[in-house]
Amino acid sequence: MPAERLFIGGVWREAGSGGTVAVTDPASGAVVGTVQDGGVADAREAIIAAADAFPSWSRLPAIERAEILFRAHDLMRADAEALARLLTLENGKPLAEARAEIASAASYFRWSAEEAKRAYGRTIPAQRADRRQITLRQAVGVVAAITPWNFPASMVNRKICPALAAGCTVILKPAIKTPLSALAIAKLLEAAGLPGGVLNIVTGSDSEALGRELTTHPLVRKVTFTGSTEVGRQLMMLASGTVKRLSLELGGHAPVIVFADADLDLASSAIIDAKARNNGQSCISPNRVYAERSVADELGRRLAGRAADLRVGPGLDDRSNVGPLIDACALAKVEAQLADAVAGGAVVLTGGHRLTGEAMDKGHFFAPTVLTGVQGDMRVMREETFGPLLPLASFDTDAEALRLANDSEYGLAAYFFTRDLSRAWRFAEGLDYGIIGINDAVPSGAQLPFGGVKQSGLGRENGVEGIDAYLETKAVSIGID
Ligand code: NAP
Repeated sequence: MPAERLFIGGVWREAGSGGTVAVTDPASGAVVGTVQDGGVADAREAIIAAADAFPSWSRLPAIERAEILFRAHDLMRADAEALARLLTLENGKPLAEARAEIASAASYFRWSAEEAKRAYGRTIPAQRADRRQITLRQAVGVVAAITPWNFPASMVNRKICPALAAGCTVILKPAIKTPLSALAIAKLLEAAGLPGGVLNIVTGSDSEALGRELTTHPLVRKVTFTGSTEVGRQLMMLASGTVKRLSLELGGHAPVIVFADADLDLASSAIIDAKARNNGQSCISPNRVYAERSVADELGRRLAGRAADLRVGPGLDDRSNVGPLIDACALAKVEAQLADAVAGGAVVLTGGHRLTGEAMDKGHFFAPTVLTGVQGDMRVMREETFGPLLPLASFDTDAEALRLANDSEYGLAAYFFTRDLSRAWRFAEGLDYGIIGINDAVPSGAQLPFGGVKQSGLGRENGVEGIDAYLETKAVSIGID
């Protein structure tokens, strides 16, 4: 299988280093593709190509840019099954989830194409009779986008679709574990008629060096990053040298509050479905559940029952509804958090062990796990888990539930289940998170702003805000007779 190439200035080419990196299937360890090991010199060329392409791309009427994105949307839908299989091969998630991710990634093309046509400025009543004042909305410029492995298609499209629609040009550095979906998306855009240099892709193993180049080069005007809070912090410091625009979608530690008046059937199925999604490797995955004391035991039984019913196995096996963890490191983190909790007195209601046996020995499989008897200072209650561990604690009053839920450095997503409307309002307002799910554990879509507060990040993707992030507002004041 020939190595995939870098995409720079509309040309598919090899990395300057001549090196390549293998991409492996997390379910089996088998090599499923090879990509270029791009370095700083390649990133620099990509930045220059994006800067060269910017004037003509940004001047193109939004409606013409939109046409290309609509075509890319149609091509993505037409090729959805092959793209979903590729995604499962490099990421491990079950095929049904990969299909849903491809559909959602495609929806970003359409949403962004529609939104960019409506990037209206304003007419502003001036303070003097001889002045007329307006605002113009203009593309920010060259954008560097860095994406993680957990949603290899949708994290890419959540950035490149609004950026391209707004008139920006882009250098994308996908995660080296899952670069194949990003390269496939670039091929769709090329086939849809995207001019050379408007989207450039640099894959490479030295993410630190590539990240440094992308966040310090003076021609890059904006950095958009999705990944860990730790790396986000480093990029924020690097970007400060040239005062670049920044969007940061970082880690989370989502609390779920279940009140005694909640529909426990809905709550338990929504929580386990959301937890199973990408095997807990999602920034908005439910990480810690707080149940009102009178329903805590019953909720624990239901969560454990549903978790035990999940079928774990290779993503390409249609019977699997949970795949492997991405790598040995991810597995070790889950095992360490579990050991810490059990040592502190936590009780395993279901799961609690690695899964082996035919079809699983070479992958990183772990049984969906529900824990009770957890304490607030345990690692599992404080650190992002990124795996199939679900700790359950209890509370007695609304005030205590709010305090426990907000007691985190993260502020991405929070969920609660209740049928009390007044409480729903109080908690929607009181939870210090960017995304709130009320009786809903899937609070996302192209139309809904997505992003966090506190150390979960800066800015929003999706919704109207998703395009705003790639537009500058220019004030124009005109003197008249
Ligand atoms: P990560 O280690 O921070 O990596 C994210 C991206 O940054 C990858 O492309 C990675 O490249 C690159 N990178 C790693 N170290 C870098 C450095 N020193 N300088 C520049 N770039 C660097 O995160 P991850 O493990 O891939 O993803 C999981 C994290 O992403 C979790 O914390 C999760 O919560 C967060 N996430 C957040 C959202 C959101 O919307 N808020 C969505 C999804 C995921 P390589 O992988 O090639 O090394």
